[in-house]
Amino acid sequence: MIQLIVSFLILWSPETGRTTCLSYTDPDPADYNAPSGIPVLMYHHVSDPVNGYYGVSTGRLRMDLQLLDEAGFFLITPEDIENGLMQVPLDRRPVMLTFDDGWQDNFNFIVRGNTVEIDPMCAVSILEDYCDEHPEFGRGATFFISWDKIPFGQEEFVLEKFNLLLDMGYSIGNHTNMHADFMVLPRTKWENSVITPMIKFHRRLGLRTSEIFAMAYPGGRFPKGVGAEEYLAGFRFMEREAVRIGFLANGSVSSLGRLLDSPEGWFRIGRLDMSQYSVRQLLGWRNIMTTGQRDDLHYQLRPRIP
Ligand SMILES: [Zn+2]
Repeated sequence: MIQLIVSFLILWSPETGRTTCLSYTDPDPADYNAPSGIPVLMYHHVSDPVNGYYGVSTGRLRMDLQLLDEAGFFLITPEDIENGLMQVPLDRRPVMLTFDDGWQDNFNFIVRGNTVEIDPMCAVSILEDYCDEHPEFGRGATFFISWDKIPFGQEEFVLEKFNLLLDMGYSIGNHTNMHADFMVLPRTKWENSVITPMIKFHRRLGLRTSEIFAMAYPGGRFPKGVGAEEYLAGFRFMEREAVRIGFLANGSVSSLGRLLDSPEGWFRIGRLDMSQYSVRQLLGWRNIMTTGQRDDLHYQLRPRIP
């Protein structure tokens, strides 16, 4: 009975409602016709039973990993995009996995007496287990943290979880301070929304905060054609650009070739919400990078010097 009451409260918590606010434009798989599109997949809750409209089950995440691996993909992070993806094997094509909001089911610790262990059912464990057994798939994912709640839900372990993620080769990204949508937030409040999280990261990570430079826009949208990218690019934290790459949730696969065409491209990378899309759908899109055509990537996408 207690369990029932607890799950009822979680289901109806206002926080859950606030952080699952995406809106969609039509999918645009032909974002760019050249086969250099790099899919960026977006997940939120990963749990059994499935939590909310944007959640997926643990079995679904495991199956997605297997299908992507079997289709010849290789896991990358935002750092890899900046480095020109040179570490992706020639017979493999890049894919990025992202997890938004920082939910506890993404990275959960279980305390038993004096010992603390990583929950074998959390997303990080599922990733680790799969990648340990399948080294050809690479390793890595990006966790975008919004500070409207405790990152990964356990205050006493926030510092340890952040450091452990970076130690294990995962990437941490900025998902703003209060999960405010840039489409409606006045520009005078943008800097606070972007920089306050960096200050909070810095309290836990110190110098390692310099590893955080990717932004996932809350709600998945970012104003277009009004200089918003340039404005965002101007924000500094500890004399560095606070944001160097930005991710939408628009149901599209962006061509990485487009990043070279304009500086704005770095702030408009498309993502697919995997509660709405499947790996099978993704494999049918014509701009997805295929193996054997890596010239497109390696010779046109030069390493970016920040
Ligand atoms: Zn979010």
